[in-house]
Amino acid sequence: MERDVVCGMQVDPAKAAGKSEYNGKTYYFCSPICKKKFDANVNRDLKKINALKDIGWTPLTIWECDILSDQMGSIEHIRRALERDTMTISKHGSSSFSP
Ligand SMILES: [Zn+2]
Repeated sequence: MERDVVCGMQVDPAKAAGKSEYNGKTYYFCSPICKKKFDANVNRDLKKINALKDIGWTPLTIWECDILSDQMGSIEHIRRALERDTMTISKHGSSSFSP
């Protein structure tokens, strides 16, 4: 079973009303309404990500459902992003972003 990330329902992938691929992962939905909402959110997010990239930023996407289901995995995801040159930590411990 997979979790419909829009409404939270458990969905049997074989019987899902819809599915979408995003960032190498397949998401399954209980209804066409949930799939439509997910796809609209992905498109909205892509526009915002591209707008940030246009002004020199490197956005990091963190999904609320991933944080809720795997907090340690999410922390590891953030740690790896910090190791890239997208963010620097000052010696005082506060975060600052640099393009
Ligand atoms: Zn749903």
